[in-house]
Amino acid sequence: VKILFLDQTGQLGGAELSLLDLAGFYHDRCLVALFSDGPFYQALQQRQIPAKVLRCRSLTTSKDSGLIAGLVGLYNLLPLVRQVLRLSRDFDVIYANTPKALMVGAMVSLMSHKPLVYHLRDIISPAHFSWVNCRLLIGLTNAMARLVIANSQATRQAFIQAGGKASIAHTVYNGFAVDRRQITPADRQRQRQELNLEQKFVVGHFSRLSPWKGQDILIAAIAHCPIDVVIMLVGDALFGEDEYVRQLHQQVAQLGLIDRVQFLGFRDDIPALMSACDLVAHTSTAPEPFGRVIVEAMLCETAVVGAAAGGVMELIEHKRTGWLTPPGDVAALTAVISQAQATPIVTARIAQQAHQYAAAHFQLLPIQQQIDALIASTSSPNHELTTTLCI
Ligand code: UDP
Repeated sequence: VKILFLDQTGQLGGAELSLLDLAGFYHDRCLVALFSDGPFYQALQQRQIPAKVLRCRSLTTSKDSGLIAGLVGLYNLLPLVRQVLRLSRDFDVIYANTPKALMVGAMVSLMSHKPLVYHLRDIISPAHFSWVNCRLLIGLTNAMARLVIANSQATRQAFIQAGGKASIAHTVYNGFAVDRRQITPADRQRQRQELNLEQKFVVGHFSRLSPWKGQDILIAAIAHCPIDVVIMLVGDALFGEDEYVRQLHQQVAQLGLIDRVQFLGFRDDIPALMSACDLVAHTSTAPEPFGRVIVEAMLCETAVVGAAAGGVMELIEHKRTGWLTPPGDVAALTAVISQAQATPIVTARIAQQAHQYAAAHFQLLPIQQQIDALIASTSSPNHELTTTLCI
């Protein structure tokens, strides 16, 4: 099967990092078409995965836009539809990796009769999308997609609850190249020295800087922790969240934490940095669809605390493979950090159990094969493409 992958951004978010791994499996029979240029395009080129940046108008409609903005957004996608339609002639399947890619993919699928697959990596709910965008996504997916690959049970459930067809939706977790994450104790020591973190209890946060990712919750928590607890914030504002970044710096200054918080920006050496941490904190204030950082921390054998909502609930077993705290609960997060610091043997045991669990459940190759089998089933003659639009 030859696959035309579509993705709306050139930035390297979790959806794009996951697609980078998946497209590697099809490198000689796929093309990744992006709606904007950026480091994702360069990463694809580095891995020799065929990729192309399409020309288009700015796609600035936000996840919470209303009816008019939604329709204008759809209209702005038309030049993309024409380009993707041309490209689609050489491929058997159109594979949409993001919501705007789904909208373009659905229109192309309607015109080309090529099967559409939607890799759903978002929780379709009012916490993440406006009513109009929810209806558009569900209507187009129900009408045109033969297969929805949801990145967690939570994502699949939210899709069904919003009106999505249960019969086409399958849950497949993200896969990870487990062996790429082996860091030696000497490397860990060197990394801690370089960042001036010796003798500290280091809590790492690995995520783009965005209000719902809750970096502010972690900063507020360490203000109540012992003075040797420090934070490294890894990630950048990828989608114009500059005001939030300014607020974070202001919060750090106001709480007198300048010596205890390092902003490292976007990094591509995540396993090395995670291994240098004593604890990884995930603090999203809205339900996380999957939470790649949690599995990555587990694979690095670094203990992890996650916000108890969405896909995270499926990844962490509380007090066995990590800790769960209610989203936005500063006091609960403070308590877990202090406990993890005070009981290093328990923390190491939890990290070890998590490592075993993640290495057994999130290997890249079996997950790629599972997705491949699902895609192959969309081309079977029993599959009938429905074109009724029911938004
Ligand atoms: N990440 C990265 N560099 C950074 C910060 C984050 O490569 O500086 C990666 C991180 O390792 C993870 C992804 O970005 O693989 C974030 O995925 P997640 O599912 O946690 O969140 P999303 O971005 O999809 O909302």
